[in-house]
Amino acid sequence: MPSNGKHPSVHLTTDSKDYLTVLPPELLHNICDHLLPNHDPQVALHSTPSTTSIAQPHALDHLSATCRSLRAEVQSWAHHFLRAHARITRYKELKTPKLQAKRNLLRGKGGLLTWAAKHCIFCGKSSNRSAILVSGLKCCAKCDKAQWPDKITKTAAKTTYDLKDHQLLGQAHSSAIHPQGSPPLPALRYGTYITSNVPTTMFLEPDVRARAQLIHGDLALHASRRAAAAAERQRKKAVKDQAAAAKERAWAAENTPFALAEREGRSKDEAIKMLGDLIAKSGLLPEEIMEAPGIESIKMALEMRNAGGPPRDGMQLEDMKAEGLVVVEGPGVDCECDWL
Ligand SMILES: [Zn+2]
Repeated sequence: MPSNGKHPSVHLTTDSKDYLTVLPPELLHNICDHLLPNHDPQVALHSTPSTTSIAQPHALDHLSATCRSLRAEVQSWAHHFLRAHARITRYKELKTPKLQAKRNLLRGKGGLLTWAAKHCIFCGKSSNRSAILVSGLKCCAKCDKAQWPDKITKTAAKTTYDLKDHQLLGQAHSSAIHPQGSPPLPALRYGTYITSNVPTTMFLEPDVRARAQLIHGDLALHASRRAAAAAERQRKKAVKDQAAAAKERAWAAENTPFALAEREGRSKDEAIKMLGDLIAKSGLLPEEIMEAPGIESIKMALEMRNAGGPPRDGMQLEDMKAEGLVVVEGPGVDCECDWL
């Protein structure tokens, strides 16, 4: 690439293979700019020290440790950065050029990474908080909000935009089976942080909206279809619930009329009336009804009449069933009685 617009500084086919150190300083500085903000999106999900820790080597440490030439370039870049942002880094030159020359501007006292490990990268205030979307840099909550104003939690992204985990985080982060035939989607940019002891995943809302449009098409139309489907589900459920309640009540009216009357806040007289209705429906004569009041007496009388007299000695329930005699059981069980 031409360094001054006249001659290329690197002949890739003929020069030595050490292409890095022969790059012009501005390109090396550009590389350093890109290395400074590192990011581990899952930083809140594992317990190992984050890359923001000063005990953890930074990519710039590795580059600086490569050789004297690159160390000098990294120092030069750090010097430039500290001076250019002196308003927040509070950078000052040391008293003598000799002292200044010995200074480690990356990791020494007042060095860039030393400073960045304890200060918000945007406003320079002391901060121990990592930026959510660039976990390698410190960032106060105020600056985080100002720099990335449209953050959205994963839960909100899923419910608001009707998206699944794998549609936000890619297949690698999801146990869900990807629909066959559709191309796998790459993960969106995201970050994690701990709030109230729970790891929370955040995305940028414009990214999520764009992903939802890609998957659902017109979002307003998709939302109205979803609402209509939800209303239809609700309606079907209400009809089903109503039918189940009616069936249960009908069973209770025939089998536990006193308990039903009590449950519905009605008098015992009404329960007795219900029994009367049942007797009338069954066609039994008053003398056929057992002496004890209640539904069991009616059932017993009906069973006896259907069996042509009182149950024979030793006749078991199964025998009665086998002979097609009436057996009344709980709700949901089909009854052979014509009065039930
Ligand atoms: Zn700040």
